[in-house]
Amino acid sequence: MDEEELDYGPEEEELVLVKDQRIKVIDTHFHWDKFFLQARFSGLPSYTWEEKGNEKFQIRYLISNFVFPSRWKACLNSELLSKVRSIKHTIGIHPKIAGNQVGQLLKELKKRIPGKFMAIGEYGLDVSQGDKDLREQIKVLRVQLELAKSNYLPVVTHCRGGENIASRYLDIMTESLDRGHGVHWHCFSEDKKKYENIKRCLPNTKFGISPLLLMDDKYPQLRSQVCEMQLEDIILESDSPYIHPKNYEDNSPLLIKAIIQKLAIMFNTSGREIAEITTRNAHQLYKFE
Ligand SMILES: [Zn+2]
Repeated sequence: MDEEELDYGPEEEELVLVKDQRIKVIDTHFHWDKFFLQARFSGLPSYTWEEKGNEKFQIRYLISNFVFPSRWKACLNSELLSKVRSIKHTIGIHPKIAGNQVGQLLKELKKRIPGKFMAIGEYGLDVSQGDKDLREQIKVLRVQLELAKSNYLPVVTHCRGGENIASRYLDIMTESLDRGHGVHWHCFSEDKKKYENIKRCLPNTKFGISPLLLMDDKYPQLRSQVCEMQLEDIILESDSPYIHPKNYEDNSPLLIKAIIQKLAIMFNTSGREIAEITTRNAHQLYKFE
């Protein structure tokens, strides 16, 4: 067909067509409040990129975890937040701050939960810098599990600090939640045994594969561990801006692009398939409108 015969139609229609052809990707875990509080913040860019064969990808939704109560007021009450439809939210109390003013924080959390949140979390146990707050952490963890149950919301879990803590954590989760409860296991970096154990106890768990996968220097085992998992269990997360692998330009949600490329090689498939499966998984766990 000659170039002259092509009818591109009105500009607006063409734009709609291009948008629909993009392969949809979901960043299931990042921290918008951290960006938001930076000086002169005016919103996030639209994260799109193109791969070989002209395939276009777009991060269609990003799930921001609001887990630092000192930032709730500034961020959750802001107009900017309610305007950006691609950003969805969770709310919870991060274990690292669970030791301070526990009662007050929980009260504030309960008050805010009837808002439009997709999940409770990230919460959990973190003794990577010592266990002096462990008792308070467990208390805050149990309250959040109850809140997730009574509000029918999935949970986002965070667990750091070695094998003993991990088993104790899974025990608490298992005894508190119904077996079918939806769980997002954030920043998963454990071995096959742990993966199978979690799936046995809580079969509706999806495992967040984060930029840790791009850090072979620090997590040399992770690549082979992830290869033992099923793609149907995996969701993608940038944990941006908290993880910055060396050799990568920045710590933005765009790190998801490199994770997709790496998973495609590991699972001997296309980036499109990785995107489609992980997006479907994210839809199963989180109820997008
Ligand atoms: Zn996080």
